[in-house]
Amino acid sequence: MKKMVEWTGKAALLLIMDGLGELPSTSSALYKAKKPHIDALARDGIQGVMHVLGRGLVPGSDTAHLTLFGYNIKTEYPDRGPLEALGVGIKLKKGDVAFRTNFATLKAGKIVDRRAGRIPTSEARKLAKLLQGITIDGVEFIFHSTVEHRGALVMRGKGLSPDISDSDPHDVGVPPKPFKGNKRMVKLLNAYIKEVNKRLRGKRANTILIRGAGMYKPIQSFEEKHRLSAEAVAGGALYKGVARYLGMETPDIKGATGDAHSDYSAKARAAIKAAKAGKKFVFLHVKATDSFSHDGNCKGKRSIVERVDREIVKAVKPYFDPIVITGDHATPCSLGRHTGHGVPFLAYGSQVGRDNQKKFAELYSHNGGLGHFYGKEVMPQIINWMGLAHKIGE
Ligand SMILES: [Zn+2]
Repeated sequence: MKKMVEWTGKAALLLIMDGLGELPSTSSALYKAKKPHIDALARDGIQGVMHVLGRGLVPGSDTAHLTLFGYNIKTEYPDRGPLEALGVGIKLKKGDVAFRTNFATLKAGKIVDRRAGRIPTSEARKLAKLLQGITIDGVEFIFHSTVEHRGALVMRGKGLSPDISDSDPHDVGVPPKPFKGNKRMVKLLNAYIKEVNKRLRGKRANTILIRGAGMYKPIQSFEEKHRLSAEAVAGGALYKGVARYLGMETPDIKGATGDAHSDYSAKARAAIKAAKAGKKFVFLHVKATDSFSHDGNCKGKRSIVERVDREIVKAVKPYFDPIVITGDHATPCSLGRHTGHGVPFLAYGSQVGRDNQKKFAELYSHNGGLGHFYGKEVMPQIINWMGLAHKIGE
């Protein structure tokens, strides 16, 4: 019998450097970085320009990742709150409403510091203990602090609604914004914040601001959708949250912190371990490229690309086929924010083919063999490059 598919025999690696894309020029971080291992993949692989949500559309990291993984953000995006809550390890139930939170400082009814002086994580943990065990009108309020002033809040109970506005005014010298939306939610949250303020009285972090309400409902898992067992190697809570939302395995990796001090060798080892354990798809996320871009620090961004080259790409190359390297959106460090520019995309593998570009950078990807394509076309291409795509029709 003729074999229908020819699997490469190795796992696929999707390596996302967050906010990687820049305007095509010789001054981009990717162009300037010394990255011999990535450029070797470029010489033997193929490049293109990915428009994640569509040409000119500016993605958030959450909607970008969901799209890359093959999900429809119109029907399957739960908003930021549930993703953050999953990311910090809260197990969500259908109908829960989740938020992102900040500890803040309130004085005479006005916010004087939105981050309560970026209180240390350990101090925030102690304050979080004071906020446990709050139930109002049969609704349970589950609060977790994460890093510094940040945290997540989950409301659990019957008949909740995600139709509720943010209280965070994103400004100082003004009061928290009054809640608007579903009447019962407004009442519940007003009562909750009153209780929180009472319990935090006298502390420098004496209130919390909340935003990003979303209701959790389970969706089709990545494995069901693509027939690929998957593992996520990520440090940042949001990325772990996205992966958990899709049912990927998300081991805690010691030293993977989601910032510029993250242990990339540990991440490379985790990716290799997952491939050796038989996972067919590994998502490896690097956050610091985006953080440096937001700070306008092009040099910092370049140094992260160089570390990824030395500490990750060199190590993982023998274990994966295909290897895809790209970003989730552009964050040009010259502009310091997410933009709708196309993102450079590189694929390498035994069933990928090649173009004639000599290194990986925006200037080259714009002339690459894959041309321009959308984020939703990434997974079908990866599955095809794995040799696992099924014929449509006869
Ligand atoms: Zn991002």
